[in-house]
Amino acid sequence: MTPLKEYRRKLWSPKQTYIRLPLDEVLLSHIDVRNHTLRLTKTGFLFQTYLWICRHKCLFTFIIFVCIPVLLYTFLLLLSTTQVLLPKNIQSNSIRRLLLVVAHPDDECLFFSPTLRAFQAQHRIELSLLVFSRGNHVGLGNTRARELLGSCQALSIPIERCLSLDLPNIQDDPKIWWSQQELIPIINRYIDLWSIDLLVSFDRQGVSGHINHRAVGLAVREIITSGNYTKAKIAYELQSVTLLRKYSSIIDVYFVFISFVPRILRALLSSIIPFNLISPPNSSRVLLLSTPHDYMTSRTAFASHVSQYNWDRHIYLIASRYMFINELNSIEKKIIGQ
Ligand SMILES: [Zn+2]
Repeated sequence: MTPLKEYRRKLWSPKQTYIRLPLDEVLLSHIDVRNHTLRLTKTGFLFQTYLWICRHKCLFTFIIFVCIPVLLYTFLLLLSTTQVLLPKNIQSNSIRRLLLVVAHPDDECLFFSPTLRAFQAQHRIELSLLVFSRGNHVGLGNTRARELLGSCQALSIPIERCLSLDLPNIQDDPKIWWSQQELIPIINRYIDLWSIDLLVSFDRQGVSGHINHRAVGLAVREIITSGNYTKAKIAYELQSVTLLRKYSSIIDVYFVFISFVPRILRALLSSIIPFNLISPPNSSRVLLLSTPHDYMTSRTAFASHVSQYNWDRHIYLIASRYMFINELNSIEKKIIGQ
């Protein structure tokens, strides 16, 4: 056997099937062969990982979209009663009553159920609900007002503090802006009447972009930031997210977890490092998660909104991250004289 044939046999033996390089190229020189071999050795782990993913696509998809999100969600749920996710000022006993201000019956289920369940079930804060319309856009106002009572019952909101208003200038309409001058005195009246400590509402985007949501959220913000007297000690607005994140269910926990990593690290490191070398956690953000029991309670509450239980709502209850995750941002209260 000639030396060239012997060399070819060694390089292209049946056992070396992983070397799929063109044979002519491999045989160009001994140095080239060594370089190729070295490159394959260096990328071996990545290459093997890639091969494994190609061979187990279903399992890989299951791990990425189910296993890891569930693990991260469970980890955050374990931290949900600590200061890592919920600031000390909310956990203090001075916060006893919460008022949720929304625009339509069913907003409390579709967007705020993790907030309501976490505050009521985990922190024993009394709930109140003020809904500025009866959702009478297609003439179902009275029906939806009745359905709201069933939802409040499921969410442990006392019926006497579960209110849907029916005012001539504030009716469910996606094209008519609600005047702040009309909303603000009404909210203030119920803050005083129900001795509210904590206000929660939509942010400027209103989660779905509905202008009634945005008007209500802006009215709450105006009450807190205007410097006018209010009994409410703290106010939070529900963070809106992109459409992709909104309908990513608990997979959105990837984004949420990353954003809370600095606070989690600080909580872990502060017990190791005796000095307060790390800046205090940002208490302006709150993360509230539904337990499986909370989620089922929220579904039961939404089942009361029979007139709204269309086919797309079945998808929403599974696909929407707002059924599982609420991120609240603090509205900074303006002190008179500042
Ligand atoms: Zn709404």
